[in-house]
Amino acid sequence: MNTLLLNNTANDIDHAATLLKNGGVVAVPTETVYGLAADASDPVAVNKIFTAKQRPNNHPLIVHIHSLAQLEQLTVDVPQAAFLLANAFWPGPLTMLLNKSDAVIEEVNGGLTTVGVRMPDHPVLRALLMQSDLFVAAPSANPHKQLSPTTAQHVFNELQGKIDAVIDGGPCNVGVESTIIDLTPLAQQQPARILRAGPLTATMLSAVLGTPVINYQAHQQQVPGNIAQHYQPKGKLRVAPTAELVTMCQQWPDSTACVAYSDNLINAMHSTGHGHALMPMQADKAKYARALYAALYDLDRQGFAHIWVEQPPQSEAWDDVNDRLSRAGA
Ligand code: AMP
Ligand code: MG
Repeated sequence: MNTLLLNNTANDIDHAATLLKNGGVVAVPTETVYGLAADASDPVAVNKIFTAKQRPNNHPLIVHIHSLAQLEQLTVDVPQAAFLLANAFWPGPLTMLLNKSDAVIEEVNGGLTTVGVRMPDHPVLRALLMQSDLFVAAPSANPHKQLSPTTAQHVFNELQGKIDAVIDGGPCNVGVESTIIDLTPLAQQQPARILRAGPLTATMLSAVLGTPVINYQAHQQQVPGNIAQHYQPKGKLRVAPTAELVTMCQQWPDSTACVAYSDNLINAMHSTGHGHALMPMQADKAKYARALYAALYDLDRQGFAHIWVEQPPQSEAWDDVNDRLSRAGA
């Protein structure tokens, strides 16, 4: 299959909409990471996503929508909380788990009784959703377990020949996957719970709901797709405390990269002559997250066998980054 590289033009978005309506798979930019999109009502098209990614068939896909009218078609028994969150955070990096309607086919949600729904905030994908008026199933556009892509080039490098097209919408602004919140416990008077840490924290979600949200705890949720080994670069990744890496600078091992954000470690790498192995990051959480996957891709491209990552702060705002790093190193 020849994979088309499309651009952010009306003609190309039109072409992508036609591909999707005809059962094709198209990689699309979102504000979080690039997604691999197909018509969520077409089982043959949805199966092409699993084949291209080599993803196990019971790992559910998130369905992307352009309007609350579409949300109501996909779900039943929607709690008021969903509308409060949609009002505050959609379009944006929030996926809500709700009870599914008959419109959701088992190829999409792995046969569960729930569906994950998100209204993404990227002009290209929004245009594509509105133009096609489809429900679009889309996981991240990476081969299973590997790094998620944050540029069209990342997607092209890994999935060229396996998908119909990639739309280049520039680098992703957020850079890590959406927060997933399960709202189904509310029906039993139980608190909503975060299943995947993301840019929106439990504190932010709970402030809008006015009720507690159970915080995310890595690897504890028994959901297909919530796997310990995920987001993995080719180099063996290890997270280590700042002080340990600063000490290691005296005898930094060959073919080992250092992903650092503190001035302390960045200066130590430079002053000991190991600047070539340094991947400097910003200490600002949003900027760090935006750059993370691209940084790991870059280190893989340079062929580092080991990637040592300076342990980020352990505060809630960094939950998503710490979660991705723990799985990348598992
Ligand atoms: P991805 O889109 O590749 O970032 O992965 C989507 C992830 O969302 C899956 O691997 C699941 O962990 C989660 N997910 C999506 N839909 C559901 C659902 N109905 N129930 C539980 N988890 C879900
Ligand atoms: Mg993924």
